[in-house]
Amino acid sequence: GQGADQTAALIARRQRLLGPAYRLFYDSPVHLVRGEGVWLYDAQGKPYLDAYNNVVPLGHCHPAVVDAIARQAAILNTHTRYVHETVLDYAEALLATFPAGPGQVMFTCTGSEANDLALRIAQAHTGATGLIVTRFAYHGVTLSIAQASPSLGRYVTLGPTVRTVTPPDTYRQGGDGVGPALANAVQEAIADLGRQGLRPAALLVDTIFSSDGVQAAPAGFLSGAVDAVRAAGGLFIADEVQAGMGRTGQAMWGFMRHGVAPDLITMGKPLGNGHPVAGVAARPEVLEAFGRNGRYFNTFGGNPVSAAAGLAVLRAVQQEKLMENAECVGAYLQERLRTLAAKHDIIGDVRGAGLFIGVELVRDRRSREPATVEAARVVNGLRDRQVLTGSAGEHANTLKIRPPLPFSAADADRLVSALDETLAAL
Ligand code: PMP
Repeated sequence: GQGADQTAALIARRQRLLGPAYRLFYDSPVHLVRGEGVWLYDAQGKPYLDAYNNVVPLGHCHPAVVDAIARQAAILNTHTRYVHETVLDYAEALLATFPAGPGQVMFTCTGSEANDLALRIAQAHTGATGLIVTRFAYHGVTLSIAQASPSLGRYVTLGPTVRTVTPPDTYRQGGDGVGPALANAVQEAIADLGRQGLRPAALLVDTIFSSDGVQAAPAGFLSGAVDAVRAAGGLFIADEVQAGMGRTGQAMWGFMRHGVAPDLITMGKPLGNGHPVAGVAARPEVLEAFGRNGRYFNTFGGNPVSAAAGLAVLRAVQQEKLMENAECVGAYLQERLRTLAAKHDIIGDVRGAGLFIGVELVRDRRSREPATVEAARVVNGLRDRQVLTGSAGEHANTLKIRPPLPFSAADADRLVSALDETLAAL
């Protein structure tokens, strides 16, 4: 129809103007023009249930954030080399969400910049260069971080100081197995660095292993790996870009579920509810060497508008009890997905924490062969039924469900019935 023609024309224009490096979601890409709460609307006014966007923890176009951005934009926005109070209020409020006492935070615009900065800080603090990441991780776009993002593997060569470890896989290793396996893998990576005359500056992990296929349980399995890197003089960097801001339901930050205290915490996506807000938090002594030997200036990082947005997000997450909602609705959704698994053999595993859920699809429950092609068909089938999701993992066979945190039980029901229909039609 007319909508499809219009979208096709925009896709061609996009390719002509933006070049060849971008990818759109879905066989039939969606042309979205408006969002509200957990709903997105295309140019024809058709609604889509958003089960994908962790960038908007409060839901799309939350009035408190829109208002904070608009008000501050109307008063002042500058680069970040002047004194301004809002960034300090935001820093205080953000740091108060961490369990480990007085810390400091440096602001950036993206998660990539936060990870890049954390790596530089870790190298300055340890005097070492090695970096350990999981084998299908994604941590960002800067050269140093792209070279530590093996999920880009076909396009990017890993850096010479980067080592990868097999990520946890509770479905195949079992809950008791993942912690020791990860700790061993980190030990081996450290030994391998050592054979090249290198020491680890840091272990960098996404605390919910999103790109590795969503690995959330059992909470606590990270501690052996963290101990191993610390014993070798390295730091632990918790990448909270995916798991942070209450999404896991049980804690504000993913690392808290694991009972570990990171040396550096990197944050991005959900902080500004869509506005670019990101940063790195650490104890003062971790930042000391980096600050002594250099300076850091990020033109937009922590600007007055971004700080106002960040502050509004943090307040609303707390006031609207979104972490509690994530826990409650997330548990309900997992239970409904497990019930659905009784009906559809292709569902091999349902896992996650709060409103970060992975549904692993397999060809056969005994061999657990990844159902990669089928997963892509399911993601597209859900899109055709107006439910937006994505996929994750080495074989892209795990449905990634990660909706805005006000997601309700009724929204969960709608998602499950669309999935039921999609699987029945496979
Ligand atoms: N870390 C993780 C775990 C991510 O998922 C991403 C983005 N998908 C990033 C870092 C990079 O964040 P950004 O795109 O804001 O640079």
